[in-house]
Amino acid sequence: MTTEASTATAPYEELAATVRGELILPGDPGYDEARAVYNGMINKHPAAIVRCSDTADVVSCVRFARQHGVEVAIRGGGHNAAGLALADDALVIDLSRLRSTTVSPENHTVRVDPGCTWGDVDHATVAFGMATPSGFVASTGVAGLTLGGGIGYLARRFGLTVDNLLEADVVLADGTFVTASETSHSDLLWALRGGGGNFGVVTSFTFRCHDIGEHGTIIGGPVLYDFADTPEVMRWYRKLLPSLPEELNGWIGLITIPPGPPFPEELWGRKACCIVWCYTGPHSKADEILEPVRTYGSPLVVGLHPMPFTVLQSAFDPLFPAGLQWYWKADFFNEISDAAIDVHMKYGAQLPTGQSTMHMYPIDGAASRVPADATAFAYRDGGWAGVIVGVDPDPAKADLLSQWARDYWQALHPTSAGGGYINFMMAEGEDRIRASYLGNYDRLAQVKRRYDPDNVFHVNQNIRPEGASGS
Ligand SMILES: Cc1cc2nc3c(=O)[nH]c(=O)nc-3n(C[C@H](O)[C@H](O)[C@H](O)COP(=O)(O)OP(=O)(O)OC[C@H]3O[C@@H](n4cnc5c(N)ncnc54)[C@H](O)[C@@H]3O)c2cc1C
Repeated sequence: MTTEASTATAPYEELAATVRGELILPGDPGYDEARAVYNGMINKHPAAIVRCSDTADVVSCVRFARQHGVEVAIRGGGHNAAGLALADDALVIDLSRLRSTTVSPENHTVRVDPGCTWGDVDHATVAFGMATPSGFVASTGVAGLTLGGGIGYLARRFGLTVDNLLEADVVLADGTFVTASETSHSDLLWALRGGGGNFGVVTSFTFRCHDIGEHGTIIGGPVLYDFADTPEVMRWYRKLLPSLPEELNGWIGLITIPPGPPFPEELWGRKACCIVWCYTGPHSKADEILEPVRTYGSPLVVGLHPMPFTVLQSAFDPLFPAGLQWYWKADFFNEISDAAIDVHMKYGAQLPTGQSTMHMYPIDGAASRVPADATAFAYRDGGWAGVIVGVDPDPAKADLLSQWARDYWQALHPTSAGGGYINFMMAEGEDRIRASYLGNYDRLAQVKRRYDPDNVFHVNQNIRPEGASGS
């Protein structure tokens, strides 16, 4: 195994002479900026960071790291909560400069570089009235989100991001390069569809796209209810959602109403239960389909409007700029039980800061019709991916945020389905990773043994190669 860091002896000047991208070392002027990730709680000190300019640079980095026994980390969008784009003393293969997209309107596909954000992809595809399923926030990296599963507004209608991943170019642990598709290295494609960054460095993703809304204009936005109405709203929502046409999706959460437009000033700072809806079907049917969600209960705000899909996708970005303190806890839920609602009421009333929140993202409709063993992403029973996040700009609040999130999770966990979405997890140990893959873990370990037997790529929610000690 070649994963022990031995940075003192690695001849980085040799690597600098090989790559076309930028090599950044401790002490260089851009080092602190290059080691910063989205979560301001993460403070890691890599031995070197290479901002790759092409696939050849990725190959050089992998070969160099193997040859010199240096640990490898891979950075896509840098959004991972646990800071898995970086590791102390590692060589970081930073893909953030690789941000091209190529849309084929004719084939309904988009080919995406590994440093793209979802904002880059939506910008490219929505111009043609199409999108591929992604998440709920534009600044998130395509690479990490895709490799973990990808849960977003289009999941009910078109499945998870991984269900739309057609092909991936991958630099493997021995420095060789393969394209994984249904017809070539199909075992690798299966594993990339949810198994995280365990199998190689993906240098290109090709996704299936779908026509959405009226040439990319959808109808969406938030409906907010008084926090005290949460139990009734959650009971209504849990029953309504599965019965809705799959063109309509909506996640539910507990929030503090942000102090700024478009929210009326008298509501700023008030705790609320929110559902953010997205309707991607024909507008001629919108009034009828949206009627129940517009008229239920006594909403504080009904903010549903036609807008380009790109606008809804990026609506949360200004509320959550890079560099805030984030602490995440997650679980999957097959149901929102009455016991769970009691827990939400208790801890929702104690949201520790204005940006702290709880969200439940649906995994039903098309996403739940995919068999559990068809991709590495195993939770296909129809339910929700829940996430509790303590968020604030102030590093002094880090303990407060993490304690609240842990207490909330501890109380809610007995109502969950067991595992959690790996893309929402911190470093929580092997049992949690196994629980997140259900029956797919052993097959993932076999694919890992085939493509990365020495566990070179282990700065992730790690799947140990079958037969490795501890697996
Ligand atoms: C504000 C916010 C909103 C989010 N919203 C959603 C959402 O709506 N839906 C959803 O599904 N998830 C969401 N997430 C979670 C998101 O999916 C993860 O944070 C994901 O890891 C981000 O990917 P990244 O490329 O930005 O991460 P990075 O931190 O760059 O990487 C994450 C992991 O992927 C690996 N990796 C990155 N690039 C590659 C590559 N090219 N090849 C191989 N391995 C690679 C890394 O080594 C690391 O282990 C959100 C996260 C944040 C912070």
